[in-house]
Amino acid sequence: MPCGLDGAIDMLSLKNSQTSSPNNSTTSRPTSKLTPKAPEGNPYYEIRAIPDKGYGCFALKDIKRGTRILTDKPLLIVPKPDYLLEDIEEAAKKLSPEELELYFSLSSSHGQDPTKWPSRVHASVQGRELQRIREQHLARISPTTSLTSIFQTNCMEMGLSAAVFPHASRINHSCNPNCNFTWNALLALETVHAIADIPAGAELTFSYCDMTKEKTLRAWELKHYGFSCDCRACAGDGGDPESFAHQSAERRFRIHELDRATKVLRGARLGEGARTPGFVNQLLELAQLHREEGDYSIRLARIYLDLALVCEIASDWKNGVECAANAVKVKRECQGADSPDYDKYEDVLRRIYLKSKAAMS
Ligand SMILES: [Zn+2]
Repeated sequence: MPCGLDGAIDMLSLKNSQTSSPNNSTTSRPTSKLTPKAPEGNPYYEIRAIPDKGYGCFALKDIKRGTRILTDKPLLIVPKPDYLLEDIEEAAKKLSPEELELYFSLSSSHGQDPTKWPSRVHASVQGRELQRIREQHLARISPTTSLTSIFQTNCMEMGLSAAVFPHASRINHSCNPNCNFTWNALLALETVHAIADIPAGAELTFSYCDMTKEKTLRAWELKHYGFSCDCRACAGDGGDPESFAHQSAERRFRIHELDRATKVLRGARLGEGARTPGFVNQLLELAQLHREEGDYSIRLARIYLDLALVCEIASDWKNGVECAANAVKVKRECQGADSPDYDKYEDVLRRIYLKSKAAMS
């Protein structure tokens, strides 16, 4: 899961640290034989073995976009994203034997070929960061599962902390996912929503990396999880202009261009953006590209919200109401109406709607 990735590795040898490998300690143990299952009573998915890929979560029936498929309590919480082994060990002390067994039944990215990784760290990387990189590297190339190998493969952001979730952590990756995960601080639960209409039998997927990045950068981020992605955005025929992979690559490139172009004028400087020629068209194109990519996530909700606010500044009430309604819908469908700042989205819609009514009277 996308959390606590390594910093750049270069220059200073990692080999010396092998004598103090955390995997020589009691934190290392065989992978549990526990057969993973979906939560008791969950009507949406089941877990099945996938040849050469471990396990996956598969839809038991057609699932509509916006459906909350899962809520999940954290199994092991580390209160800092730049975790060390000692932090995971401290958290693991609180687990019961059954919970520890469950923890060690999750997937692990250990056993990787060390020659596929840089063997040196830049000399400027020191202290805690150097220790963190060494520990994660050793967990990755160790022949056995460890607290660290499980944590770095499965941890998800949880506010300012990182946590492993017993069920959400089992959902596999796609760069073109059909599900979205979010930590809901009000519920103190990880929530998983469908961001596409998912047909019965399809695998549920998240993106573990920034899905807007291009393929080689995504592949580097995913290397930390010990696999190469074979989703339709990665494994399709990128040379065929008609293929999804080719069109997706072009869309992601353009998304990055537009993100760079609009970033400084979003947020606090949106008023300036509203007066900048071309800004609205750039946001509209950005929204269109995210929709074509199937990225009905909070990224799309935020673009619609900014478009609504720009329309409000320009007293364009009709488009303002439409964009605000889209922002509320996407926000609700990817995170839920009980997500922490959902009210802010509804407030914007209500305000612009009332202004549109006043303008017509
Ligand atoms: Zn992929």
